[in-house]
Amino acid sequence: MTATMIDGKAFAAGLRERVGAAAATFTARAGRRPGLAVVLVGEDAASAVYVRSKGKATVASGMESIEHRLPADTTQDALIALVDALNADDAVDGILVQLPLPRHIDEQAVLIRIDPDKDVDGFHPVNAGRLATGMDGLVPCTPLGCILLLKDRHASLSGMEAVVIGRSNIVGKPMAQLLLKESCTVTTVHSRTRDVAGHVRRADIVVAAVGIPAFVRADWVKPGATVIDVGINRTDAGLVGDVDPAAAEVAGAMTPVPGGVGPMTIAVLMRNTLVAAHRRAGLPAPEGL
Ligand code: NAD
Repeated sequence: MTATMIDGKAFAAGLRERVGAAAATFTARAGRRPGLAVVLVGEDAASAVYVRSKGKATVASGMESIEHRLPADTTQDALIALVDALNADDAVDGILVQLPLPRHIDEQAVLIRIDPDKDVDGFHPVNAGRLATGMDGLVPCTPLGCILLLKDRHASLSGMEAVVIGRSNIVGKPMAQLLLKESCTVTTVHSRTRDVAGHVRRADIVVAAVGIPAFVRADWVKPGATVIDVGINRTDAGLVGDVDPAAAEVAGAMTPVPGGVGPMTIAVLMRNTLVAAHRRAGLPAPEGL
């Protein structure tokens, strides 16, 4: 193997430690802990696991975890009323409504109701607009985690050719915006792109967020490229990414699955909650995060 494996687990642990230290300083100055409210509607098993690990990480970071578990038949109006109450609650700095929501609830109608300054998932159109126009805002956790790993690997991303595979609002689109902000030349490829392999072959940076096991083949990767694999695919062989592990023979650096991007998402959620708390308290943003 030629690629350096990018240890997202270790980087995420370091980030969580820095967030914990900054949260303690915030608590001493503000007289209260930063608070993250997580709302889970229904019994989806994977969502319940995510919510549990988010709650544990929040407490471990010295922040207040406020969990709301609502039955699957909760009405959209009742959920929106809860979001309104959390928006108005001064002890709450971050609000996260766990997706997917039950089918009778319109996700957009709920997400758009979250106060953008408490929107630690960064999914609100106001935060998408802030990201697109270069204003300070809250940025979706997974793509921000990818950028942190890339910046740890490269002193500057300026001028690099970056190819993002996937155009979801959660990963692909904000990822492309973040790379553009770092002065990369960015191409977003998607399900209707004619020659995905041809685009990937040009890339110094590849970010794969497709949801198809081993979609990116080793012979697509430019020798020495940095490959960030966002994919989490459950297969009979266990968890696999969107990039063929054989690409590590060609790439210069690559994130493994598991242990690459995955651990970054919750660490960045903690970071976003802390940043939201500082902004709401009128304190300068904590450094080094
Ligand atoms: P999504 O299904 O919303 O989007 C997938 C994207 O892939 C689409 O934009 C589509 O255009 C593109 N695509 C599909 N087939 C393609 C093809 N043949 N060629 C090129 N592009 C194609 O998925 P998502 O929410 O963006 O997630 C993508 C992957 O990342 C999934 O495996 C998901 O589990 C994973 N994920 C991981 C984390 C994490 O914490 N590490 C967070 C979010 C998502």
